Amino acid sequence: MKIVHAASELYPYMKTGGLADAVGALTGTFADRGHEVSVFIPGYRDALAHPAAAAAERRFRIKVEMGNQYLSGDVLSFSPKKNLTVYFVCREEFFDRRLPYGNGERDYEDNADRFTFFCKAVVETMRIADLGADILHGHDWQAGLLPLLLREAERRFGVTLAMKTVFTIHNIAFQGLFPAATFARTNLPEEMFSMDGLEYYGQVNFLKGGILFADRVTTVSPTYAREIQTPEFGCGLEGVIQTRVDDLTGLLNGVDSAVWNPATDRLIPARYSAADLSGKRACRAALLKACGFEAGYTGPVVGMICRLTEQKGVDLVLANADFFVGEDCRLVVLGTGHKRMEAELQALAREVPGKVFMCARLDETMSHLIEAGSDFFLMPSLFEPCGLNQMYSQVYGSIPVVSRVGGLVDTVSDADTDESGTGIMCDPNAASLRDALSRVLRLFGDAERYSRVQQRCMARDFSWMAAASAYEALYRDSL
Ligand code: ADP
Repeated sequence: MKIVHAASELYPYMKTGGLADAVGALTGTFADRGHEVSVFIPGYRDALAHPAAAAAERRFRIKVEMGNQYLSGDVLSFSPKKNLTVYFVCREEFFDRRLPYGNGERDYEDNADRFTFFCKAVVETMRIADLGADILHGHDWQAGLLPLLLREAERRFGVTLAMKTVFTIHNIAFQGLFPAATFARTNLPEEMFSMDGLEYYGQVNFLKGGILFADRVTTVSPTYAREIQTPEFGCGLEGVIQTRVDDLTGLLNGVDSAVWNPATDRLIPARYSAADLSGKRACRAALLKACGFEAGYTGPVVGMICRLTEQKGVDLVLANADFFVGEDCRLVVLGTGHKRMEAELQALAREVPGKVFMCARLDETMSHLIEAGSDFFLMPSLFEPCGLNQMYSQVYGSIPVVSRVGGLVDTVSDADTDESGTGIMCDPNAASLRDALSRVLRLFGDAERYSRVQQRCMARDFSWMAAASAYEALYRDSL
């Protein structure tokens, strides 16, 4: 099949979260399976400067209608491997910035324009490059306008650019909501700014466009697919989702084993496998050192890696700060984001420097060291579409401590209640997390049982093959 993907992140060129990992692994796996794959992302400053993108060359000069203006852009492309072409949609005014979505304090004011331009540029490049796609697959709100813009361009030019469209919701909490005035920049027919179109309580909602107008809608876990039909998790779009349940599928993300595999990982100080965990002990020693913890420490080390947001349950961890102060346990957190959360975690680390370590930066190498060097991985999310770190941690033999929501339910089961369990589960509240942390101490205190759970974690198969086959079946079925 000829498959075109469009997303705002793609590992390794631009990543702020799991979206990049998912799109990178999925498109790479499709290429390996013999499909002809094109992936479009914005030509962000960091993406263009990435050493892996050094071969990118200008291929097309495009003009895009935006309201009553025409804006030009360049499309660069290169082929990182057989069957895979990466396209960067460039316009300095929009994408030559230090960060992808905002200045660190708040979102950029022209995000509606930036991602309208991106979507229009994708469609225009598909047209002039004559990509002849079977499937156009967009991801998250930044690509939400694609299904509509594609059909509009086809109508205008009298051509077929893609047989079917698929749209994946990686997180329904991010919707791309903008003032009504931005609608004019889409050049879509006036009637599309209505309840049955992009309008959402007087504003423009990009995500809603993807949900309503794609031929098929997917999200990243079966549990999240059910949750987003409810007011508790639907973030106001549950009614819109309900209109598409017949075309909605939850497909779990996988683990990119080229990046996340303790047996081959070059970012960790020693490699290891379930059969020989001596390398994991070396990683633990390196992590203790990196955190400034006592070298001979023998209790449990709990790791946490996430964007610091409410979603990730950071406040539940902070509400249990006394646990980490008082109990025989070490906590290392790697994360950036919410300034108050960052400050409170840093204050806790200053209060008990030998027990809690806070690493407030984006650091790929440190994230691998934490996965490999910890005994437990903490992820008490309030909601979690799929989540990747709980899968990485199982692969690395670090037992996940997670809340019972979304993809966490589909990838972890509780070792205290299930004989084949691989983790410790709690409800997304501080008291339940406290109970889970006590169970961490108990499980770690029983070395034999800990080892059995750890072996079960490491025996799990989270490869992308299962997900890629499921997407292929969905594509075929839609055609
Ligand atoms: P989300 O997509 O909601 O952020 P996921 O668990 O699905 O959450 O994926 C997060 C990805 O981002 C993981 O690969 C994780 O290791 C990575 N990550 C998050 N924060 C950091 C950080 N500070 N440094 C390095 N990697 C990070």
